[in-house]
Amino acid sequence: ADAGSDGEEDSVRVVVRIRPPNDLENNRKDKVITQCPGKGALWVETSTSGGRPKQFTFDGVFGAETTQYQMFENCGIKKLLDMALDGYACTAFAFGQTGSGKTHTITGPMTMFEDDIGQDAELQGLIQRAFLYLFDSIGQRKRRDPSTVYTLKATYLEIYNEQVKDLLNPADRPNLPVRWSKEQGFYVENLFCPEFENIDDIMAVLEEGMHNRHVGSHNLNEHSSRSHTMLTLNIDSEMADPDDASMYITKHGKICFVDLAGSEKVKESKSAGDALVETTNINKSLLTLGNCISALSDPKKRSGHIPFRDSKLTKLLSDSLGGTGVTLMVACISPSAYNASETMNTLRYAVRAKRI
Ligand code: ADP
Ligand code: MG
Repeated sequence: ADAGSDGEEDSVRVVVRIRPPNDLENNRKDKVITQCPGKGALWVETSTSGGRPKQFTFDGVFGAETTQYQMFENCGIKKLLDMALDGYACTAFAFGQTGSGKTHTITGPMTMFEDDIGQDAELQGLIQRAFLYLFDSIGQRKRRDPSTVYTLKATYLEIYNEQVKDLLNPADRPNLPVRWSKEQGFYVENLFCPEFENIDDIMAVLEEGMHNRHVGSHNLNEHSSRSHTMLTLNIDSEMADPDDASMYITKHGKICFVDLAGSEKVKESKSAGDALVETTNINKSLLTLGNCISALSDPKKRSGHIPFRDSKLTKLLSDSLGGTGVTLMVACISPSAYNASETMNTLRYAVRAKRI
């Protein structure tokens, strides 16, 4: 793992994670086409690159050997968490084709949430490590300034086929409306937003949501490859004003973790009827997200029109993407030649998010 030098002050930070070859790729003896020569560089050999690898530079590139711990330590998420504690709204999301490691990166392997397997701490993803980091930081901040009071709340939702489902209250209504108000901006009506006070509370929230992701889907893999899931932590704080102890300063920070739908191009022959509607919606929201981030990463366009209204995903991310916080994008890719065209597709999207 090696970080590039530029991205420190950017509002959009883009890193790439290459997963290890899987059994199928190993059995097929697929060629590994990715190399990480260091300093945020990524080389990808494709059949069209004529023996010379295509060269990219990102804010960080994490090879197949990168552990979950190293990923958390080095991908830049700590900066987002510090900012969320300071009252900014930040977003971290994982992007890439199905099977590229998005869920592994954000929450750890899905099997971790099956009843009899339990939690393997080593495999925990960015979310669980973020919980620990937040409680640790809150403890430190309270020791520094005992007047500080934090109020923490979480929401966990899924967007499937442009329909919003509350993963913490799934039976309530299958499609919650997204509304807009002057005070709140875009929000989901009637979304359950439990308060949590400690690590056990918030881990239970995560487990509940992961469990409900499975409920009601006939084909879990298909469902998870077509849905976006979004866990949001709202971090409100109140502390005595250092200039006037009778006054209080309040801050409203938040951090969203988004596990996006698979970015694979859908083969025409495989889509018909309902399936076609679904893939069109997915592609539209990923395209809209790309358009928003690319506009936001350009300081000249940032103050202009950003097309948040074009999808529910971008509506719900509008305040954290468009505010003064930081966006972290983890582009997840396979190392195998077999997936070269999807990998190039993911990297083009990542480059575009970063283009100024
Ligand atoms: P996605 O969410 O992008 O569809 P997953 O996160 O489910 O992909 O990953 C697909 C498979 O590869 C899972 O079995 C997952 O545990 C495994 N995997 C992904 N990334 C890694 C990694 N960095 N190290 C080890 N296994 C991984
Ligand atoms: Mg997944």
